[in-house]
Amino acid sequence: MKHIYSIPLAVLFFVSCVKFKTADLVVHNARIYTVNQKFEVAQAMAIQDGKIIAIGKEHEIMNKYRAVKLLDAETRPIYPGFMDAHCHFLGSGLNSLAVDLSECKSMDEVAEKLKTFRINNQDSKWLIGYGWNENNWENSLIDNQLLNENFEETPVLLWRVDGHSLIVNKKAIAQTNLEFEKSNGLVSEEYISEFTKAIEYTEAEKKAGLRFAEENYFSKGVTSVSDAGLTSSELRLIEKMQESGTLDMNVNAMLYFSKEASMTLPILKNKLTANTYKVVLDGSVGSQSACFKKPYKGTNEFGKLLMTRDSLARIAQIAFDQGAQLAVHAIGDSAVKVALDVMGKVLKGTNGLAWRIEHAQTVGESEMELFRKFSIIPSVQPTHLWDDKDMAEKKLNDSQLAISYRLKSLLEQNQTIPLGTDYPVACNNPIHTFYNAVFRANKPWVLQSENLSREEALKGITFWVALANKTYEQNGSLEIGKSADFVILDRDIMKIPKDELQSAEVLKTYVSGGLVFEKIN
Ligand SMILES: [Zn+2]
Repeated sequence: MKHIYSIPLAVLFFVSCVKFKTADLVVHNARIYTVNQKFEVAQAMAIQDGKIIAIGKEHEIMNKYRAVKLLDAETRPIYPGFMDAHCHFLGSGLNSLAVDLSECKSMDEVAEKLKTFRINNQDSKWLIGYGWNENNWENSLIDNQLLNENFEETPVLLWRVDGHSLIVNKKAIAQTNLEFEKSNGLVSEEYISEFTKAIEYTEAEKKAGLRFAEENYFSKGVTSVSDAGLTSSELRLIEKMQESGTLDMNVNAMLYFSKEASMTLPILKNKLTANTYKVVLDGSVGSQSACFKKPYKGTNEFGKLLMTRDSLARIAQIAFDQGAQLAVHAIGDSAVKVALDVMGKVLKGTNGLAWRIEHAQTVGESEMELFRKFSIIPSVQPTHLWDDKDMAEKKLNDSQLAISYRLKSLLEQNQTIPLGTDYPVACNNPIHTFYNAVFRANKPWVLQSENLSREEALKGITFWVALANKTYEQNGSLEIGKSADFVILDRDIMKIPKDELQSAEVLKTYVSGGLVFEKIN
């Protein structure tokens, strides 16, 4: 009997050696949006050692590869792993340790929520909350009296929804070197760093925060985040976690400019890139701290710059000399103009440095072309328009609204517009970003001609982010040699009707060919 089988088996083995190559994973029976240069759609791909080794038609891949694991996508759509061009990844994770105040309608409600939370969370040194928005309060009066009375011995720090101002109690002020003659507890932008320096998070808390943030993002199909403001030590923690296999997320880190940061950059690894200085030039519209050429509606307030033109120029020159990227937060049209002028003076013409303006929320007509002239990338967050539309109408004049929240005009400058969320300021679901870029809010001042097409919006949450991060050789599209980061959705966002879009769900998320999220039915 033995002899009868041995010959055919040997023949079979020989045939398979000749005909098939092996792969760790073959994904097939799918509609794969490769987001390559030609925006081709494939049906199958083979993955080896975390990278795509072949992608194409069903029969091409299936006739060529034998896989250790075979994944039948049952004709579902697959996209490159979504990328968030601007978020606060670590910060959002640390929020998991803090109190969500976004639903509160008054200072009394805020105090009540904090008291309840504190009963179950006695260990942490600081009591931290986030998400308050006085524009939604019945009475927008800010006052820390209740916080002083109820938390005499505990420093309390509450982030406004936009992260551009705080409410703190007396005990928190006492932890800093600041002295306010009289304070209702409201802290404006320029003093925030004094408080954040004083907060003590343990390494264990930061690790827990990062793990929490990662899980949250994977469940949304996001496989790469650009954290828009980290310190060198936070970057090192991320690096350490990635190396020990406790963090799978691809991270592009922007470091707040500092001497320490200049000694840390660049880090250019497979899953971690850090070659960007982040600078905050103005505030936000909601806090009335974004810097405009004309005053806010019905006021004499213009907002203001948080640093001088000269300081920005000095940082820009350092970044340029190091071949680093520079990312400047600018929201008001005056701040955007200063950022473009200063960058332009250093850059002098078109270049491949991928310097960027974060938010670029209000861009004057005469400044628009400067993006192209100096190859400066606008990094925008389409969901902000949806969240801000009523507030913006109250704060801004018609002429300011007319040049706010633009997408298409910005895209036309460099044919690139990376999209982000600013999470936890806005929702981190990239399908909402996609929706809000393609179907923008319906207001008389919101020009529908500034909407992106679906193809542009998909590039905006994938390939263009990779271009802006300069990680396009590793991710951003599903092509041979790139990391096998992809997401499977339950329906095709490139085809379904508008009203179905926001219900599209992530079924599976993969990073480097490994499953990191799966929807449980
Ligand atoms: Zn931000």
